[in-house]
Amino acid sequence: MTIGWTRVLSRCTLATILGTSTTWVHYHQVRAEELQDTNALKQRAATVLSKAKESLSLEALYKQKARQIIQKYYRKQGLPKSDTLETAVEEHLSSDDEQQGIPASTFFKELSNASDPLCVPMVIVGGGTAAWSALEAIYEKNPSAQVLVVTEEAYAPYNRTPLSKEMWSVPSISASKLSSTTRAELEYKYHLPNLPESYRASIMTNVSVTQLYPKENKIQLSNGLEIFYNKLLLATGGKPNASELVNTSSIDPSIRDSIITFRRISDFEHLYNSFINPKYRNITILGGGFLGSELACSLQNRLNQENQRNKQITLLCPEAGVLGKFLPRYLSDYITKQMQQHNIDVRPGVSVFDMIPTQSIDTVDHSRIQLQLIGWNDDQHMTDQVVIAVGITPRQELAEEAGLETDPVAGGIRVNAAMQVEGNIYAAGDVASFWDRALGRRRVEHWDHAVVTGRIAGENMSGGHATYDWESMFWCDLVGLNISFEATGMIDASLRTVGVWSLKNSFRRGEFSDQNLNEGVVWYLRGNQVVGALLWNREGKGLDIAKQVIGSKLQISSVQDLTSLIPVQDESGKQAPFVIDTSVLGSH
Ligand SMILES: Cc1cc2nc3c(=O)[nH]c(=O)nc-3n(C[C@H](O)[C@H](O)[C@H](O)COP(=O)(O)OP(=O)(O)OC[C@H]3O[C@@H](n4cnc5c(N)ncnc54)[C@H](O)[C@@H]3O)c2cc1C
Repeated sequence: MTIGWTRVLSRCTLATILGTSTTWVHYHQVRAEELQDTNALKQRAATVLSKAKESLSLEALYKQKARQIIQKYYRKQGLPKSDTLETAVEEHLSSDDEQQGIPASTFFKELSNASDPLCVPMVIVGGGTAAWSALEAIYEKNPSAQVLVVTEEAYAPYNRTPLSKEMWSVPSISASKLSSTTRAELEYKYHLPNLPESYRASIMTNVSVTQLYPKENKIQLSNGLEIFYNKLLLATGGKPNASELVNTSSIDPSIRDSIITFRRISDFEHLYNSFINPKYRNITILGGGFLGSELACSLQNRLNQENQRNKQITLLCPEAGVLGKFLPRYLSDYITKQMQQHNIDVRPGVSVFDMIPTQSIDTVDHSRIQLQLIGWNDDQHMTDQVVIAVGITPRQELAEEAGLETDPVAGGIRVNAAMQVEGNIYAAGDVASFWDRALGRRRVEHWDHAVVTGRIAGENMSGGHATYDWESMFWCDLVGLNISFEATGMIDASLRTVGVWSLKNSFRRGEFSDQNLNEGVVWYLRGNQVVGALLWNREGKGLDIAKQVIGSKLQISSVQDLTSLIPVQDESGKQAPFVIDTSVLGSH
């Protein structure tokens, strides 16, 4: 099963992670299930296949995508596989490209037993996306590089993004298989063929770096070991914020284990076990950001598909609606309603001020948790599992204690365009505060950004001169709601937005409701400057243009300037786009 991995890969800049081409190829997510016309499916498969021919490096991924479309085609038709279509794609699907990648766990030599101080030319701290991308870039430049990855997690580098989405669509996993299945789904795969065994990198898992001594080119590990480096990359990502509530010792020990944050494979495993436990009747997610809303949708979608009515997913958030910090109010309201219609118990405008253990007869094996609420009709809510999804704090402590420069505003370790902190120390990914050519200094927590900055750092650590000239993107899939969007630049609900929408055919002027929104582009403005764009249900179409618009620091003189930048069309192709300017609505 490689669904999650390829889906995420193909969503972003595939060429980067494959590392064999400088062509950036943007993803066309296939929402074939929404296409009624099977011809459209065939056509899409053909396009995917012709794309595959354009670039060998991308072929395997496009093939995978083509295979998915074709499977959907047959399923939709209710037909056995047709010879014609099958022949058309056979040669593209038959090779073993997909197997060529070496799983990260196999790629590394484990070095956990070392006891004397080590000298290693390149050390990467972290086991996430930026770490892996840097490693790939280093090996592309120099296949005989000597690299050590130190990660406090138990796994070789893996991709976190499917943890809140695709992993919940994987067929039921037994407790004994959970760990190996999850790892196989998520771990990165090395795609440069023919790398001799002896050239592979080393890894230390379950070990953290506790101190950094820049003047001595040295790091200290939690196992007491000292390592001297020539080049060092800090790819330490972020740590989930656990609300004040959970940090206090007032939380009863009997429920402490049932209150988790969500970032790692181990968190997924914990939540998965609670989810499949029939005695866990309610799972409550605190936080209506991207992580919280994705998780709520994925979990509820699974319940809906399995027709399980005895379990409830609740989402509590202090904002007036889900994703309320990022989206204009009308979109946030729309998503909130959609989630409620899909049986998710969403309660906006709610804060939790305490969590108390309670015992009930049918849950003798675990204490239930009573949440004390402010802002809702009921001031109490009973649950079995709490997931706190209220953002992250960059893990900059190593740099801070070593006297390296950090960002007092956005947080994180300050880097220049080469991802260099100072001298021979680099930082990349969620932890890096970088200079955005259009938007100024900032820090983002996006997968695509971790890939790009990780690669830049890796390239420069191996003698390259790469610089950051990029506007990152992210995506959000609300599984089961058929809502997905991509975004780039600053996505902040406190900004004025101008939405350019195509509406469903049923729309008649004067009867607008958010249910009519079909697809659209929401532009975010700071003053008159376009600083962000969100592409709603557009499968990434227009993302390149949006990046160019933001990169060029476009100043608009009127709303009309925005209506044709990325054309949107209603289903009939006749109506002019419908514009929603939140400065006029006054409700952004
Ligand atoms: C569930 C989930 C879903 C997501 N979905 C999306 C999405 O759909 N789209 C999107 O764009 N982004 C998404 N993201 C965000 C994306 O995954 C991150 O931006 C990306 O993982 C950042 O990569 P990174 O390498 O900078 O940090 P991380 O992936 O967090 O890796 C940091 C690593 O460093 C290790 N570490 C930290 N300190 C030390 C130390 N002192 N010693 C040793 N090891 C250390 C950590 O344990 C970790 O292994 C999602 C994130 C999560 C958690």
